[in-house]
Amino acid sequence: MLTLICPFCRHEHADDWECLDSGRADTMRCENPACNKRFVYLARECLACGGESVFTWGEMPAPEALAALFCEHCGAPPDGKAQEAKSEGAAQRVQ
Ligand SMILES: [Zn+2]
Ligand SMILES: [Zn+2]
Repeated sequence: MLTLICPFCRHEHADDWECLDSGRADTMRCENPACNKRFVYLARECLACGGESVFTWGEMPAPEALAALFCEHCGAPPDGKAQEAKSEGAAQRVQ
């Protein structure tokens, strides 16, 4: 279960991970009747640690902003590659 927080009123929306389109920004309307605003959310599964992160905005963010989102669990970037390259390097990996 994920929690989407409205950027306008901080109202919390619980949602099933399965219901969300992972990795793509989408919009939903705030369930708080006093707010009722539409906001943007993005749910993303981290390629590095498998953790789920949810981000919300008051308006559609720039592509650069979406590309600069880091995992809230392990800090890996969206593609999960930079973190791996930084840690040990592919040459040292024993498989
Ligand atoms: Zn709201
Ligand atoms: Zn992660």
